[in-house]
Amino acid sequence: MSLVEVACPDLGTFKDVAIIDVLVKAGDVIAVDTPLVTLETDKATMDVPSTLAGTVRAVLVAVGGTVSRGTPLVRVETAAGAGVEAAQPLRLAAAAPAATSVPASAAVAAADEPGADREAQLLVLGAGPGGYTAAFRAADLGLRVTLVERWNTLGGVCLNVGCIPSKALLHAAKVIDEAQQMGAHGVSFGKAEIDTPKLRAWKASVVKKLTGGLTLLAKQRKVEVVRGVGRFVSPHVLEVSHEGSTQRIRFGQCIIAAGSEPVKLAFIPEDPRIMDSTGALELPDRRGRMLVIGGGIIGLEMACVYEALGARISVVELTGQLIPGCDADLVRPLERRLKTRYEQIMLNTKVAAVEARKDAVHVTFEGPTGQKTEPYDRVLVAVGRVPNGRLLGAEAAGVDVDERGFIAVDGQMRTNVPHIFAIGDVVGQPMLAHKASHEGKVAAEVAAGRKSRFDARAIPSVAYTDPEIAWAGLTETQAKAKGIAIEKGAFPWVASGRSLSLGRDEGMTKLLFDPATHRVLGGGIVGPNAGELIAEVALAIEMGADAADVGLTVHPHPTLSETICFAAEAFEGTLTDLYLPKKPAAR
Ligand SMILES: Cc1cc2nc3c(=O)[nH]c(=O)nc-3n(C[C@H](O)[C@H](O)[C@H](O)COP(=O)(O)OP(=O)(O)OC[C@H]3O[C@@H](n4cnc5c(N)ncnc54)[C@H](O)[C@@H]3O)c2cc1C
Repeated sequence: MSLVEVACPDLGTFKDVAIIDVLVKAGDVIAVDTPLVTLETDKATMDVPSTLAGTVRAVLVAVGGTVSRGTPLVRVETAAGAGVEAAQPLRLAAAAPAATSVPASAAVAAADEPGADREAQLLVLGAGPGGYTAAFRAADLGLRVTLVERWNTLGGVCLNVGCIPSKALLHAAKVIDEAQQMGAHGVSFGKAEIDTPKLRAWKASVVKKLTGGLTLLAKQRKVEVVRGVGRFVSPHVLEVSHEGSTQRIRFGQCIIAAGSEPVKLAFIPEDPRIMDSTGALELPDRRGRMLVIGGGIIGLEMACVYEALGARISVVELTGQLIPGCDADLVRPLERRLKTRYEQIMLNTKVAAVEARKDAVHVTFEGPTGQKTEPYDRVLVAVGRVPNGRLLGAEAAGVDVDERGFIAVDGQMRTNVPHIFAIGDVVGQPMLAHKASHEGKVAAEVAAGRKSRFDARAIPSVAYTDPEIAWAGLTETQAKAKGIAIEKGAFPWVASGRSLSLGRDEGMTKLLFDPATHRVLGGGIVGPNAGELIAEVALAIEMGADAADVGLTVHPHPTLSETICFAAEAFEGTLTDLYLPKKPAAR
């Protein structure tokens, strides 16, 4: 037996690197390569592996301390004669042992590739819901993963400036609205008082909890996180720039998960009163008149928030319908409600000019009634999102990107370059977090040598407006356009006890069926909580359920979920909660 100290290996150019975790304690039995501590620089987090096997007798460092090359980390009691391996420079510790089933393309980079500062078996570019899911799944399957992200926190648009902060604010809006509505039913709370800094701080705390959780999950899986903006310099090397310094990472395989940005309209001037969705989530002054350019989901959700917080809203939409692409019968109850609350909803109307003057932002519209100009205190531009594919130097890797910035992929999420995958917003519509994360899992599994394919029958869409609108699978609009035969079962929520007990009656649930097999092909819901309810429709489509499967499943009463069962019963002709004239051929 002998006592030997394990020291910090060569850290390259780094000195006095912070210890953010100590992973062993006295008494632990460790092997060569057991991680001892986690270090964090401004570029990466990394574990320091042991070079000895034995029993830890003393831990010589603590969280909050710093280490440099040669700093003793632990004292280990080794068996007599146990060899001491030379410490490898730490940056090489990221080079992974090859997983047996990893495709050959993953293992090697061409000999004439540019030099690199570190190695990654799998590199994931972008840490949104697509990227972090792919990274975590790949790590769980045994790959050594490096995740490159330009922002300070993980989570991408969804967690930082998308789904999560918007839903926190929408919750606040909902509470305000519901409290006001109860006034008509005998329970009054008075006018809502908004403490904006506190509301902002709450929203930020929700985001922080989730992004912080991702950092922990990355650490638990030993996913190396590298901060900086990535650009391909060759098919196997990504250059990452951060605060004036650059490093090159050579990778075996790569998953591009670089997401999307809000579309900017060239004729709209830069002005602090004009914002995109990211600016709107910061909740600047909300008084006065606000114009939302774009009647899609993101614009209407933010309109919902700002209206509840006191702004007078107008919406302008180029097409003839709010939420273009959604079935008109689902949008109608929302539009009816918004018309009673908003100053104007301008459909079939184009924004022809925007001028930021001292008194207000003056917007010129061209619509069915001609041209007019109106002043607004604030303008939100929400006219869609553009993929980031053209910002990555993808051509240096040989990856094809179309003129809009989308990267084409096959069912296994492979680009035209077999060892490079792409997922999420950067590969196409629908630009939704749950699509990105499912695609991320497929790419990770294929990269790890598994048989996997993205073949979802339904990707649900949800507008978290009031009322909510959700749909999955085939829509009536698509069925009509493609000439697909369908039959429909619908249930109006005016006959739902649960809906009436919420003080709402405008909702509707409809299911679309294959006339021959009665299988559920699609469904749409409008009403409070539609976004939660649509999951049952998506499951029915995925499982190939037919109308009888849904109608004969006992749903709890009184719930909004019953309306899905009732829509199936309406199709089957077995519904008793409404009187519907008998179908000619009774089922
Ligand atoms: C206001 C708003 C509300 C939304 N609400 C919903 C919702 O309720 N439900 C829903 O499903 N979807 C919603 N979305 C859409 C959703 O956020 C996106 O579909 C989802 O985030 C896409 O995930 P992704 O992983 O493809 O990309 P992103 O989330 O865009 O992540 C890409 C990441 O890559 C990083 N990156 C990009 N280029 C580089 C580079 N060169 N180097 C390093 N890092 C890079 C970015 O910083 C980012 O972190 C909303 C979006 C917005 C804007």
